[in-house]
Amino acid sequence: MYGGQRTRAEALRARYPHAAEILGLYLALVEVWESVAGDVPAEGAVGWARLHVLPRVAEATLASGPPLLSAAVAVAVASRTGTVPGTGTPDGGGFSRDDGEADGLLVAWIADEELTPVERYLARATLRVVPPQPASPGPASPGVAAAGRCPVCGGPPQLSYRAAGDDPLVSGRRMLICAKCGNEWHFSATTCPNCGETGKRTVYAEARAGPPAGRARPPGDRAAGPQRGRAGSPRAGVLPVVGRRRPEDDQAGRGADGEALLFPHLRAESCHTCRRYLIDVDLGRDPRAVPEVDELVAVPIDLHMAEQGYTKITPNLMGF
Ligand SMILES: [Zn+2]
Ligand SMILES: [Zn+2]
Repeated sequence: MYGGQRTRAEALRARYPHAAEILGLYLALVEVWESVAGDVPAEGAVGWARLHVLPRVAEATLASGPPLLSAAVAVAVASRTGTVPGTGTPDGGGFSRDDGEADGLLVAWIADEELTPVERYLARATLRVVPPQPASPGPASPGVAAAGRCPVCGGPPQLSYRAAGDDPLVSGRRMLICAKCGNEWHFSATTCPNCGETGKRTVYAEARAGPPAGRARPPGDRAAGPQRGRAGSPRAGVLPVVGRRRPEDDQAGRGADGEALLFPHLRAESCHTCRRYLIDVDLGRDPRAVPEVDELVAVPIDLHMAEQGYTKITPNLMGF
């Protein structure tokens, strides 16, 4: 069921050292999702997921997550078991007690309520296996902005992608993927899914490739400030240079100097009016891309967008 995601995550992990930790965790989560896929009950799936999936998500994160995220999950587990993180063997057991409390973070995510980054991560990774839960859409501007919300559950878009294919009716069509339930729907290529603005779209993409893959940074040379409010952190390493590109120039998958790019199929679609953006995955440039997996490696683009004062419409599973 998750074979495509697994294969892609393994391929990207080999290709992009900066995303190796995040993809390692993603692969551990795929194991969890696969192992429970046949057991999801038709009724009461959220309560079931809290008892049977959330503890395993916590365990997988403690074992395979980036250090910051693992530490945050250990604190969350400890707060439920009354133990101090770092003492004894941490496991996900704190979430398996049948006290109803942990349903709170799952229900809060479904209802669009405010959560800490680690709560959001735990809720999303757990509910990945649960069928769509209808929630009231958040406040939407009248008219076209409502079209930027998922028609199944009212959730916001996680990302967009452009379909590949020989059929001109399909090729280049922009699809949005729901952050809540994974549903996909067709959306205008030039409209902001957040505020409905048309015609003020700016594309940010890799301007030229970074240093050769695998080159180590000198000790103490840390990537600048990627931690703000996020559940994980990218490993410092190969970071491509990102810059603003005119959509009409963003065609060939090469930088201004003609150099092949690390991320020819990834870019940020941003809106001047509301200062929000999302990552767009172009399957025409990389037909093997799996949008939910490829978005996880776009961290350098996300960091650049944060520097420019843009906020992602919905941070991804790992908080970027
Ligand atoms: Zn949805
Ligand atoms: Zn907008």
